[in-house]
Amino acid sequence: MAKRSTEFQVYNSMTKQKEIFKPRAEGKVGMYICGVTSYDYSHIGHARAYVAFDVLYRYLKHLGYEVVYVRNFTDVDDKIIRRANELGEDPKALSGRFCQEFLKDMADLQCLLPTHQPRVTDHMDEIKNMIAQIIKNGCAYAVDGDVYFSVDNSPNYGILSGRKLEDNRAGERVVVDERKRNPADFALWKAAKPGEPLWDSPWGPGRPGWHIECSAMSAHYLTHAFDIHGGGMDLIFPHHENEIAQSCAACSDSKINYWMHNGFITLNDEKMSKSEKNFFTIREVTELYHPLALRHFLLGTHYRSPVNYSISQIEIASEAVFYVYQVLQQLKNKALKRGGLTEEDVLQSIEERMLARKNKEFSKSDEIRSDLAAKGIALMDVGKETVWRPCVPVQQEQQIERVPQNKLPLHEESVALVDK
Ligand SMILES: [Zn+2]
Repeated sequence: MAKRSTEFQVYNSMTKQKEIFKPRAEGKVGMYICGVTSYDYSHIGHARAYVAFDVLYRYLKHLGYEVVYVRNFTDVDDKIIRRANELGEDPKALSGRFCQEFLKDMADLQCLLPTHQPRVTDHMDEIKNMIAQIIKNGCAYAVDGDVYFSVDNSPNYGILSGRKLEDNRAGERVVVDERKRNPADFALWKAAKPGEPLWDSPWGPGRPGWHIECSAMSAHYLTHAFDIHGGGMDLIFPHHENEIAQSCAACSDSKINYWMHNGFITLNDEKMSKSEKNFFTIREVTELYHPLALRHFLLGTHYRSPVNYSISQIEIASEAVFYVYQVLQQLKNKALKRGGLTEEDVLQSIEERMLARKNKEFSKSDEIRSDLAAKGIALMDVGKETVWRPCVPVQQEQQIERVPQNKLPLHEESVALVDK
């Protein structure tokens, strides 16, 4: 059999061009996608990112790659603390709750589970060790319990976003923190404020800045050098730029081969904005439309292009998904007609078979399955349920001829036959 080609191209945000994908190790891919900050329900912009990278994950697996897919949860952050204070809830409990809600959304959208889903609060040691290493390498400094990354000591700062340091002066619109050596320096560790969650560190009690978590967790799960790092385009600056600076400052061998970024979602042709209340959560959409309609809508546009969400577009996607299911139902109806059966007949047979299996009358249960298979109806056991679908009619004599009697229990043999 001809070997399946594993060659494909990716657009690399670092080089700004399409490149033939070459993994660092043959047959293996390490992929890190920035996850959500879990303080509320996720919006459809999140759905777009994770559906796009789910397709990439599935495609890499389809090509035969062994993929380690890491997607983090930010479970300690200013927004989480603020929201928890508003609701009078413990920040960890709040973020834990919304991690679960996010996972439910991902399951509804039929996104496969990543290999690892690390949470920041479970990786404090890795984060503190990386900050200590960056300080040791002369690229960060501690002031009054805070630790800042020194952008002046990062010669490649701006390599991904194309921004120049002088464009990044934080002092133009906000008061510059006088303790920073350069206004563009950013926090690796934040000294604890009253009432905030805190962890001990060599620089005093506090918590990590946002960017350091992805450098530390990607290095922990994928080492300092790996294949693909992705997220939304809004993460290019400052998040991914800062990640590169930190990772290279901690380890000179740090290298990510492909940076991938998905495009924005607009809502009725305007930028989605939480502050303007111009956004939809995934849950708001999936309460009214099938999650696959949302998935279908999101995948209707190239992942790097902007996509505009509107009720008319989701209606069109919903119609398309309905059409697919409707055709499947017609296919089932025709199969019943060819087999001279009604759906009730099949459901009754399924019930009889279940009872026979419960009573350990396996020859009877196999007979029921074989009879249906001969009429072009295949039974499939999905968990504790049995469902049916059309199949090529299999004559009983053929079933006996085709399956050696001594290999599997008879009821397993018929599964093998009808599922061909
Ligand atoms: Zn990240």
